[in-house]
Amino acid sequence: MNSSYLSKENLICKTSVVDENIYIREQKGRFQRIRRYLSFTLMAIFILIPFIEYHGSQAVYFNLEQQRVSLFSLTLFPQDLLLLCLVFIFSAFLLFYITKIYGRIWCGFSCPQTIWMLLFNWVERRIEGSHNHSKYLNAQKLNFNKLVKKLVKHCCWLIISLFTALVFISYFVPVKELYINFFTLESSSLVVSWVLFFMACTYINAGWIREKMCLHMCPYSRIQSAMFDKSTKLVSYDFKRGESRGKRKRTQEKAAALGDCVDCNLCVQVCPVGIDIRDGLQYECINCGLCVDACDMTMDKFNYEKGLISFTHEQAPKNRWKRHIVYGAIVSLSILSMLVWVLTWQSFEVNIIRDRQALYRVNHEGHIENTYVFKIRNKSSETKTFKIAVADLTHARIMGQAKVQVLPGDMKTSSVTVAVEQPLVDGRNDIRFNIVDIVDNKQVIKNTSFYSGDGGW
Ligand code: SF4
Ligand code: SF4
Repeated sequence: MNSSYLSKENLICKTSVVDENIYIREQKGRFQRIRRYLSFTLMAIFILIPFIEYHGSQAVYFNLEQQRVSLFSLTLFPQDLLLLCLVFIFSAFLLFYITKIYGRIWCGFSCPQTIWMLLFNWVERRIEGSHNHSKYLNAQKLNFNKLVKKLVKHCCWLIISLFTALVFISYFVPVKELYINFFTLESSSLVVSWVLFFMACTYINAGWIREKMCLHMCPYSRIQSAMFDKSTKLVSYDFKRGESRGKRKRTQEKAAALGDCVDCNLCVQVCPVGIDIRDGLQYECINCGLCVDACDMTMDKFNYEKGLISFTHEQAPKNRWKRHIVYGAIVSLSILSMLVWVLTWQSFEVNIIRDRQALYRVNHEGHIENTYVFKIRNKSSETKTFKIAVADLTHARIMGQAKVQVLPGDMKTSSVTVAVEQPLVDGRNDIRFNIVDIVDNKQVIKNTSFYSGDGGW
């Protein structure tokens, strides 16, 4: 094979820093502070949610075995898929809406990939030292110091990955049981294999793949530019003010031909995706603002005005309200639909199936009987008792048990026989059942048919 095919130019998949690791320099500043607080908050929410209890059980729990999702007082089943669709529509359009106004701030500030990538980078900096120390260490041949540092770093990364996997799995396996069984080596092989799988995913993604996930694999990074317009706020370099760039000393008077960029290269060193924002807008940029913090720090040192790199738009938005109409309307509509869904949500569901053996039969007292199979699903988190009553059919009464007790999230099947004591005129008659939750007094009404043969009897 011609080796030129393997040259850098012919690579289909390459980062802006081909074949080179990115050593992210740590940066302090306004945007880094915002990201840190936001990351702590989001991580705390992610870790703590499975520990919240509601009526003695896990408040948020995805029970795959029984195909149900518990969300506090709601228990959702596959037939409640509409809510899930509404949540997806809401989240997708909210993301598009925010992207249109502020660019990829989701990527820079709240995407789990970025949060874990920067967390792993923080661990690396603590163990290997600054980004330059890391670079230097990697260039060295294997020695004791390098071996120890690499071992410690990878052990820390693996421990973080293990906890991430356990937290994720705790949404699908009862949380206390999961942690106790896992650390006492009593978890099932299925649980252990899923924990190991997600642990490996976290370790590989945040430790090895890093920014390449954002650059080459994430579909959102590919479509987000379709949502930008000239009024979208993006991190950009003020070319007019910065050029011609040139190195200088802090005490030195700025030469007339020079712009404000002192070519310190900090904006490149802090960039987690390894780009130089001074080359113009690039699709790789995740709008994390690290280069803004770095450049502001430099501007401060040189006593120049901050904002050489900043969140800015190419053109001030005209007709401000108009740009909010479409996305705003869809987001509001999906919130409204979810509210309607929640307000009309019933804590139980009833299905009635007629007995298929016989349309009707005559009992020993000479009364006409029809039998129905009631399937009652209790979608709440408490045990409920339901009373079945007949309405709309005179002289009809329920024979035997008219109360059904159903455990939380369970479905109970109950056979109910209705007898009519007086002759009916029609062969087919309408019958209505009221099924009442006797504690909450909520009711479901179901219509079906009562047969009494041709022309009554
Ligand atoms: S160019 Fe700046 S905002 Fe964009 S990813 Fe790099 S550091 Fe973040
Ligand atoms: S951080 Fe600012 S001053 Fe330094 S190279 Fe980047 S743009 Fe120029």
